[in-house]
Amino acid sequence: MSSLVRVDYRSDTVTRPTQEMLSAMVNAPVGDDVYQDDPTVHQLEKKCADLCGMEAGLFVCSGVMSNQIALRCHLKPMEEVICDHRAHVYRSEQGGIMFHSNASVMPIIPHEGSTHITAQQIEAKINTKVDYHTPISSVISLENTIMGTVVPVEEIAATHTLARKHGLKMHLDGARIWNASTATGIELKQYGQYFDSISLCLSKGLGAPIGSVLVGSKDFIALARRYRKLFGGGWRQAGLLAGAAIYAIDNIWPLLKKDHENAQKLSKGLIEMGFKITVPVETNFVFVNGEDINFSFRHAHPFLLAHGVLITPNGFNCRMAVHHQVTSEGVDLTLSLIKQLITSRFIYRVMSNEDYKKSVVDDHYPGTAQEIKEGFLHFSTKETIRQSAEIYQKGVKDLVLLKIDPLKLTDLDALRWVTVSTRQSKAFPHLHGKLPLSAVVSEKHIPFDEKTQAHDWSESEVIEQVEQ
Ligand SMILES: *Cc1c(COP(=O)(O)O)cnc(C)c1O
Repeated sequence: MSSLVRVDYRSDTVTRPTQEMLSAMVNAPVGDDVYQDDPTVHQLEKKCADLCGMEAGLFVCSGVMSNQIALRCHLKPMEEVICDHRAHVYRSEQGGIMFHSNASVMPIIPHEGSTHITAQQIEAKINTKVDYHTPISSVISLENTIMGTVVPVEEIAATHTLARKHGLKMHLDGARIWNASTATGIELKQYGQYFDSISLCLSKGLGAPIGSVLVGSKDFIALARRYRKLFGGGWRQAGLLAGAAIYAIDNIWPLLKKDHENAQKLSKGLIEMGFKITVPVETNFVFVNGEDINFSFRHAHPFLLAHGVLITPNGFNCRMAVHHQVTSEGVDLTLSLIKQLITSRFIYRVMSNEDYKKSVVDDHYPGTAQEIKEGFLHFSTKETIRQSAEIYQKGVKDLVLLKIDPLKLTDLDALRWVTVSTRQSKAFPHLHGKLPLSAVVSEKHIPFDEKTQAHDWSESEVIEQVEQ
């Protein structure tokens, strides 16, 4: 991303190595990890195994590789993994359980209002009886945190008890177990006692450039090492990356607390502006929805980007990930930009109701060109703003200016007015009272000038004043 981006909320994977981390990499002694003689890799693997109370560890290039190797070690064909229906191992790894392990998945949906699945729900799905139809349950895979929420340790303990009762293995996708531990104060070891294997990501909140560590028993890791080779994951002077990871555990893990505080600050600020937070903010993720205040993140995206704030918009929704390179000042900047958008409202498009709905739910909606052709979109030039301003001076209060491309416009002060034509006004009854809308302008009086590609508002007529 360009150097313009100051605050990047897309994920906690987007962090860049700091100078200190780069020095740690350069100074790390290395060997050849396929020959198992890279001292820094050994140090990292031992460190992670010790932290989790496990016998051994294996450094791999990604969290997906770590999870999939672990599950491959635990599974045989015609067996089944029980997990949350949102689990990364199920939804976000290209169906790897089916591909690598020839096994299936029993996804479970948490109870209404709950952020995690329960031991009771899992027990109801366990099948250990051999029959002609159903696969045998052999692994329970939990994810902690999941969507930024912490799975209670009591629930994990209860799940562990029933896994032992039925002879199932326990795997933890602990990509963000660092965050869970930070939020709860529960040591990794305490979580570790309930699992046969844990996958820990170093390139999420910890900010290392690459890598995950899989931990478990010695025998398990010996088998995992063979699968790593099979998956093409044997690597050589990996100590350079292990050096960064060790630095991250020692120096960036303690900063996660600050990330969680910043996420709280962000979510509080958003709530104050009328946004809904759709998932409890327990660690570093803020899931936000702007439908109640008619705020589309898709439409806000170019404006935020122009001011150095990068998000992944999803219509009215947005997942904002906080990490150690999102500062408290970055959160302040974000909130003030969003506030500007809410008060100026210039991100609203003029288009048919149906198209409007389409555009806010579909980020890939082609939009603009077609809309301009069909006349849904009005001005985007300075000239039209000037004309609007002239009408304003003639005594029309608060024209409604529907502006869709803030990137092309830097003069924010000019964007305080919004004009809505009669047709638009009819198409958007819901805008009344939500937009700072105080004038509805008759459409037939707004000729379009082909040459300047702008509407000539000078002839327009105010037909209705709407209370603000
Ligand atoms: C990111 C992530 C992974 C693995 O991701 P990689 O991009 O392969 O490192 C696994 N599980 C969860 C929950 C994750 O968020």
